[in-house]
Amino acid sequence: MTRLHRLLLPVTLALALAACSGEQGGQQSSSNAPADQAAAQKGPAMVGAARLDNADGEPGNWMSGGRTYSGQRFSPLKQINADNVGDLGLAWHYDIADAKYGQEATPIVVDGVMYVSTDMSRVRALDARTGKEIWSFDPEVDGSWLQHVCCGFVNRGVAVWNGKVYVGTLDGRLIAIDAGTGKQVWSTQTFEKTRGYTITGAPIVVKGKVIIGNGGAENDVRGYVTAYDAETGKQIWRFYTVPGNPADGFENKAMEMAAKTWSGEWWKNGGGATVWSSFSYDPELNLLYFGTGNGSEWARSVRSPKGGDNLFVSSIIALDADTGEYKWHYQEVPGDEWDFDSCQNVILTDLTIDGQARKVLLHAQKNGYFFVLDRETGKPISIEPFANVNWSTGYDLTTGRPNLTKNARYDDRGKPTMIIPGASGAHNWHPMAYSPDTGLVYIPTQVTSFTFAMDPRYKPKKLTSNIGILFEPLTALDDNGKPVDPPKGPPALLAWNPVTQKPVWRVEHASTNNGGILATAGNLVVEGTAAGNIEIYRADTGEMIWSSPAQSGVVAAPMSYEVDGEQYIAIAVGWAGTGALGSASGVPVNVNRVLAFRLGGTDKLPPMPAAPVRELNPPARTGTPETVEAGYHTYQRYCGGCHGFSAKAGPLLPDLRYSSALGDESLWLSITSDGALSANGMGAFGAELSHDDLNAIRAYVISRANDAKEQ
Ligand code: CA
Repeated sequence: MTRLHRLLLPVTLALALAACSGEQGGQQSSSNAPADQAAAQKGPAMVGAARLDNADGEPGNWMSGGRTYSGQRFSPLKQINADNVGDLGLAWHYDIADAKYGQEATPIVVDGVMYVSTDMSRVRALDARTGKEIWSFDPEVDGSWLQHVCCGFVNRGVAVWNGKVYVGTLDGRLIAIDAGTGKQVWSTQTFEKTRGYTITGAPIVVKGKVIIGNGGAENDVRGYVTAYDAETGKQIWRFYTVPGNPADGFENKAMEMAAKTWSGEWWKNGGGATVWSSFSYDPELNLLYFGTGNGSEWARSVRSPKGGDNLFVSSIIALDADTGEYKWHYQEVPGDEWDFDSCQNVILTDLTIDGQARKVLLHAQKNGYFFVLDRETGKPISIEPFANVNWSTGYDLTTGRPNLTKNARYDDRGKPTMIIPGASGAHNWHPMAYSPDTGLVYIPTQVTSFTFAMDPRYKPKKLTSNIGILFEPLTALDDNGKPVDPPKGPPALLAWNPVTQKPVWRVEHASTNNGGILATAGNLVVEGTAAGNIEIYRADTGEMIWSSPAQSGVVAAPMSYEVDGEQYIAIAVGWAGTGALGSASGVPVNVNRVLAFRLGGTDKLPPMPAAPVRELNPPARTGTPETVEAGYHTYQRYCGGCHGFSAKAGPLLPDLRYSSALGDESLWLSITSDGALSANGMGAFGAELSHDDLNAIRAYVISRANDAKEQ
């Protein structure tokens, strides 16, 4: 095929699709696609509104996180299919040489070039045929800001527009990079560093505006979404997701409405509801869709003492994409106090439900329910559990509200309460996919629980974790005083029918925190696993038909593209996220790579690197049992989130049991109290914890190290 043919092929396809559909979008495609293709000849990532609106007309490209604005993560390519997938082999692998903290991004491919963000907010451009690096961009994240990041130094992807690649950084910059040279074009600081914000999510570009949210609802932040001019980085609009101090006046009517659902002085600690994962967009309705995170603090009785729904915590929100004006909201978890973020990807499609054609929005929440909403109005069409839940008995569709069980609200119960699913969710941020061919949604699910109890010593803190509950292993008792067993059961890839709201098939996995999903027209569903494999299933039946070792735990979602008439399936591997901070994957080392597969691919991964052998050589036990016990509680509150609860870390951040500072009190205090390692992301706790507190933590970690050595 000549270069000219390659360039013309997508145009021909777009024209054919436009002729078939007869819809307005299709007509736009026929008039604008040639201009876009001409733009494509001018340089890399020359993507405009017409190309993004009609991304389905370019099945070989994957131009935004969910491939199209609908966020379906479905590839219409079928060169690789259920009949020939046995011939699938590695086409190329790219070692992310400077990566340490794991990979969560879905790569983007435009006109034969792959753009992928990696940990520490870095970005690579690779030749999508060979994996050869074209450029590498490092925003040099401020290491001292890393201590405010809750859940890994990761990034979930880039966006492209008019020759530029956009990435949000952990320290809050939105950066435009020249897609051809990898050089920075502009950079805008998106938050003030007076509160514990961070960015790990992917931006979206809609009609020349780059839209980005932020994270930090476990800290002290007020969530918002901002649109910036894609050419200049200048702010165009901002929409807050929770109200600020009423005395300062409300930004808009939506905030005035939301403020009626709060009480007390919620704004002091921010309120939360951050938009930290991804966006979807409907060009016809011109609506931007996203979910919001948990409230800050987690416990409602702390952040809003008289109760209330606390809008727009744990909600789906639709905004006018041009102005950021509020259009509708649907709150999935009124008055959330279980960390039920609505952070999962939003999928848009059209379904026939009860004989009626509906424009729907699909969402599989942390809380275990699958939501089918009317995306024009936000009204729920159906809501059913896809997982085991104990916090509610279902939803009332007329009010749209859940029916809570007796003990669901733990904040006034006075004893630990086990909630199913737990804070990790029945489905977390790992993207699900939808196949229009099978009509099924493919959800990476897990069985989780969390035992909630109020923290009697809780005091709000600046910039750092502010959840208001105990974060340590607790035993929940039922109403008869008997210990409640946590739910058991393997995590599973679940194929779900969104019309009948019933499971169709499920494939069980060995361990939790598995990867996001790709569905293809080749009747394939692709997923990376925590056990360290890339697996492919028949989309219609769930039969496993292909598997290959990834040499790393995988949490990111795969994607597919075509270059020179060849289809590829690509994925970033590298164990990451909250699960990775506390535990290892099924693979003893963490190799960070991008892998691409094609039919007949003959590339081979190098041999697995040997797992590092480290000798545990702690100093002698120190401190009284009471000191060690006090150190245990302080450790859980201040250290466990990053270094592992019970002082046993995952592979990404230091396992303190091995720390050479354990036997050197002055070194220990210089780090933990004075911030000697703050440039590496280690916090300084001298303002909040006394030397006695910090030495008690040291005594506790020494005792854990000795326990492990004596085992
Ligand atoms: Ca959360």
